[in-house]
Amino acid sequence: MSAKNQSNKNRIHVLLPLPLAGPFDYAVPESLERPDPGTFVRVPFGSRVMTGVVWDKGENADIDDSRVKNILSLYDLPVLTAANRRLIDWVADYTLFAPGAVLKMAMSVDDVFHGVGEAFGFVKTVLPEKLKMTPARKKVLEYVTDMPETAAEIARQTGVSSGVVTGLAEAGALARQKIRPLTFAVPRIDLKSVSLSAEQQKVADRLSDMAGRGFDVCVLNGVTGSGKTEVYFDVIARALSQGKQALILLPEIGLTGQWLERFERRFGTKPAVWNSGLSQRVRRETWKAVLTGEVRVLAGARSALFLPFSELGAIIVDEEHDPSYKQEDGVVYQARDMAVVRAKLENIPIVLSSATPSLETRVNVRSGKYKEVVLPDRFGAAVLPDIRLIDMRRDPPENKGELKSFLSPVLLKEMDAVLSKGEQTLLFLNRRGYAPLVLCRKCGYRFQCPHCDAWLVEHRNGSRLECHHCGYSVPVPEACPVCGESELASCGPGVERINEEVTLRFPDARQLVVTSDLNATAAEMAELMRQIRDKEADIIIGTQILTKGHHFPSLTLVGVVDADLGLTGGDLRAGERTFQMLHQVAGRAGRAEKKGLVLLQTFDPENRIMQAMKTGSADQFLSAEAQSRELLKMPPFGRLAGIIVSGSSQAQAQQAAALLGRAAPSGNGIRVLGPAPAPMALLRGKYRYRLLLQTEKQIKIQEVMRRWLSAVSLPSSVRVQTDIDPYSFF
Ligand code: ADP
Ligand code: ZN
Repeated sequence: MSAKNQSNKNRIHVLLPLPLAGPFDYAVPESLERPDPGTFVRVPFGSRVMTGVVWDKGENADIDDSRVKNILSLYDLPVLTAANRRLIDWVADYTLFAPGAVLKMAMSVDDVFHGVGEAFGFVKTVLPEKLKMTPARKKVLEYVTDMPETAAEIARQTGVSSGVVTGLAEAGALARQKIRPLTFAVPRIDLKSVSLSAEQQKVADRLSDMAGRGFDVCVLNGVTGSGKTEVYFDVIARALSQGKQALILLPEIGLTGQWLERFERRFGTKPAVWNSGLSQRVRRETWKAVLTGEVRVLAGARSALFLPFSELGAIIVDEEHDPSYKQEDGVVYQARDMAVVRAKLENIPIVLSSATPSLETRVNVRSGKYKEVVLPDRFGAAVLPDIRLIDMRRDPPENKGELKSFLSPVLLKEMDAVLSKGEQTLLFLNRRGYAPLVLCRKCGYRFQCPHCDAWLVEHRNGSRLECHHCGYSVPVPEACPVCGESELASCGPGVERINEEVTLRFPDARQLVVTSDLNATAAEMAELMRQIRDKEADIIIGTQILTKGHHFPSLTLVGVVDADLGLTGGDLRAGERTFQMLHQVAGRAGRAEKKGLVLLQTFDPENRIMQAMKTGSADQFLSAEAQSRELLKMPPFGRLAGIIVSGSSQAQAQQAAALLGRAAPSGNGIRVLGPAPAPMALLRGKYRYRLLLQTEKQIKIQEVMRRWLSAVSLPSSVRVQTDIDPYSFF
């Protein structure tokens, strides 16, 4: 359609959820009212029709009116508020990603605006008598409930093909039912599940005083089990009583059944939930209900930060130190930091909760930027566990027959005592599989991933060698591919190997291995947690998945198999992270009346971190850590930005990195490290080079980066990823 007769005043800017540049120009035809900023509109884009948002930032493009296309229609939905729009602009500006890329994240679901239509799902029913059972069918039948789900969704959740689901329906083992739209109950604020202790009440009062007073950041610093969750529930209640919505961010694995049940006890209903396990339908409906205000409280993983709240009144970031708040794919951002930005733009309070606040956060408390409230004691009769170090040089594991042992006699003795009291032990090792490395005893060959700079991890369960970076997997070979000898040795332990040792040493104990295997469904995880809570296992062997949010009353002993793991490597935060993780794991012990014991196996007991764990004093360790970073002008005392240049051709990637290196910025307070091959120089078949820009704090690192990147033109065969405030350095 020609738009020649339209004047400039009919032009508007529309941001599209595309990883391109900023907003595009469109015209409002006379048949439509001029939409307010934030209105969702349908527009033609190339040969497609897309949904975008009317944007109030942006300049008219230098194109003739006649080439500006008309918007097609307006959605009858609330607008995306100014605070949401400014958040998108702010994050784009800060992370150096295009606003459209951030909007894409904020719109979450591609088809969010498509009608649901008639949807049918399947529910469980009485099983026909002569049903042929297969493992796949069994999975589906265990999964389905009285809530209808589509065949595609059931298939996705259980890992079977949707043919299995329809097959079961044809056999009469599943019933068809219409899917009704989701409804979100209003949380009640007149219930009180627990009465706070005097100490908790004091802290809760100080926090909820913040509500209604505009932007404010407060750190809720309390030991594990001190009741931080109960206390921040009060802040949510206050926001609700003011007619506002509330958002709780949790690490992906922290959003457990136990947490939800506690919320329900307090507010009479579960909150809306947002994480990667949701079906497309639930995502779509939740997103809309956040926009319309039907959702009053939402608990979610980091991406929930970008949901279109219209009247947000408070944000809680639980476990604010957790590394999973940093998103590394797509738009690279730190959700905790961006949550503070959102609170500022919304002019509302935000609470950062942790037992081990990050160094960044501590420095902000020290400088007075953030307030802090402290809960120094565990709630009620529960006391903090005793923490002891096992010097592995003095008390090394004693091999038992053929078995290579990884557990010190000191730990084994305590496990025995705990077992005989009928209590539970958790053995923590943050390593999946049987052994992290397999090598040939004859020629020394090590099995490596062909696509990554990484050893292959042996999994006896399934008997394969796997790459934990790209998913490459082969059956465990019989012989060495180089010398042909069949003397392969498994080096070091993973949880499977610890399980093997436990089986041999405690033949009568019941064991359970719990790993952060990405294939486990939420239902499967919940079942494992139930088994532990109901004491169906005596010894639990697990990875990081077990470190958060779980409360197991009979768990009194925690053994950390390799406390030194994670301290190697050039990561800026390796020490801090190890400390936080050990602290979290230790916090699982003795959460009820029974006092807990934590034993850390270490080869370096004099290490600052081990000493800090032993004395339970974080302060000394963290101030030493802060001092060394201050000296090096590392974050949070200086700024960092990373660049990764990668490509399928090593030569091209290297040349591009060299080009960037030659154009590197210089000046007072600016330093560039690299280019150098990344520590993981090959990842998923791509060769990688790193550059690191370090500046003093007062320098706007984004501007330096923009100038630098725009000065160099690189071939499209290489990819340049930027990372402001990098957390990973591989
Ligand atoms: P944190 O989040 O600091 O680790 P939680 O909020 O999970 O601590 O509390 C630890 C345990 O103590 C939970 O089981 C919780 O229900 C209980 N608890 C905390 N405060 C109270 C209270 N005032 N009354 C009853 N139980 C409480
Ligand atoms: Zn790999």
